[in-house]
Amino acid sequence: MIDIRLKPGREKSVLKRHPWIFSGAVAEVRGHPADGETVRVTTSAGDFLAWGAYSSQSQIRVRIWSWDEAARIGSGFFRDLITDAILSRNGLVEDGQYAAWRVIHGESDGLPGVIVDRYAETLVVQYLSCGADYWRDDLAAILMEETKAASLYERSDADVRQIEGLATRNELLRGNEPDRLIRINENRLWFWVDIRSGHKTGFYLDQRQNRLVVHNLSKDKHVLDCFSYTGGFSVNALTGGARSVTMVDESRQALDLARQNLSENGFLAGQVDLIEGNVFQMLRSFRDQGRKFDMIILDPPKFAPTAAQAESASRGYKDINLLAFKLLNRGGLLITFSCSGGIGMELFQKIVAGAALDAGVDGKIVEYLHQSPDHPVRLSFPEGAYLKGLVVQVA
Ligand code: SAH
Repeated sequence: MIDIRLKPGREKSVLKRHPWIFSGAVAEVRGHPADGETVRVTTSAGDFLAWGAYSSQSQIRVRIWSWDEAARIGSGFFRDLITDAILSRNGLVEDGQYAAWRVIHGESDGLPGVIVDRYAETLVVQYLSCGADYWRDDLAAILMEETKAASLYERSDADVRQIEGLATRNELLRGNEPDRLIRINENRLWFWVDIRSGHKTGFYLDQRQNRLVVHNLSKDKHVLDCFSYTGGFSVNALTGGARSVTMVDESRQALDLARQNLSENGFLAGQVDLIEGNVFQMLRSFRDQGRKFDMIILDPPKFAPTAAQAESASRGYKDINLLAFKLLNRGGLLITFSCSGGIGMELFQKIVAGAALDAGVDGKIVEYLHQSPDHPVRLSFPEGAYLKGLVVQVA
C-alpha cells in the first residue's frame, strides 16, 4: 500500500473531515501511485489518517474516500455510499416516472468527483476526478442496480477533467441508448432535456426551488430572464401570470429548446421575446432604449470557479447587477444568482450592494436563495454551497 505522508501540522483539516488534501500539505509519496489509485494518508509520524484517491496533476493531490482504517475501498464500500445517497433523498425530492433530481452530489455524498443526475429513466454521470474515473465501471454497475434506471449516460466533458489530466468522454456507459431529448416534469411543468449536448448533465436541477420563487412572484409583471438557457425560469414566470417575458441567452441551441419548452407547457413562442445575444450588451441597449421591467433574473454561468478568479468575477457580477438595477421599475424585483464556488454569500451580497449604490437605487433583500436540497452541503465541506441568490426589492 502506498503511503502519503503529510507535513507536520497538516493533518488538521483531515481530522476535521475535510475531503481534500492539497499538494502543499504532502511531505512524501512513498511509492508510485497511478492516478486514481487508493493511497493511505498518514501523519508526519506515519499514523493512519484516511484512505483517498491519488491525483498526480491536480493541486488537490488526494481526495478522501474514508477516515476509517478498517474500510476497504471497492465495490461494497461504494454500494453503501450510493444506497445512502439514494435513501437520503426520500422525501426531499418528488419521485415519479418523469421526475428529475440529483442522485449523487460529489463530496457532499462522500463521493468526491462523482455527480449523478436522474432524468426520468436515464441517469447522467460526470466523473470529475481521477478517483472517480478509476472506479468508473464499478460505480456504473452499482448505480444501474441500485436505481433500476434504464440507461446510464456519461457526460465527463467538463473543463475540470483537464486539470486532472483526464480526457473527455461523452457516451453511453450502460443500458439502452436514450432518446435525443428526454422529457421531465419539474414542479408540475414539462421540460425537454438534451443530455448529450446540454450544459452540465443537461438541466440546472439546482434551481428547482428557486423556479418556484419566480413562479410565485411574477403575477402581472414584465419579466426579463437573463442567461435563460432552456427557459426554466421563463416558463415558471408565465405560469405564475407574468404579463410579458423577455429571454436573453447567447446559445441558439438553448433558445431552440426553450421554444419547445414553452409550447410543451401551452405557451406560444410568440408570447415571449427570445433574444439571442450577449447579456452584457443587451442590458446596455435596454438602458439606452429606456426599457423597464418589474422583475429581472440574472443567472450567469460560473465567473469564478475558484477563489483565485474572485476579483475579476466580482467585476462581472457588479456590472450586470448594476445595469439590471437601472432597468427596474419602482418596487421591482432583482433575482440574482452566483454559482461561483469562489464567491461566498457574504461577498456576493457585498457586490450586489455595491452595484445598487452605484446605480443610485435603494433596495432590500426579501429572500436568500440556495441550491435545492438534492444538492446538499456536507458540514465538513462548506465549499459544497456553491449556488447563492438574493431577491432584492428596489425602492
Ligand atoms: N437560468 C438557467 C440556467 C442558466 S445557465 C436555468 O434555470 O436553466 C447560464 C446560461 O448563460 C447558458 O445558457 C449560457 O448559454 C448563457 N450565457 C453565458 N454567457 C452569456 C452571455 N455573456 N450572454 C448571454 N448568455 C450567456
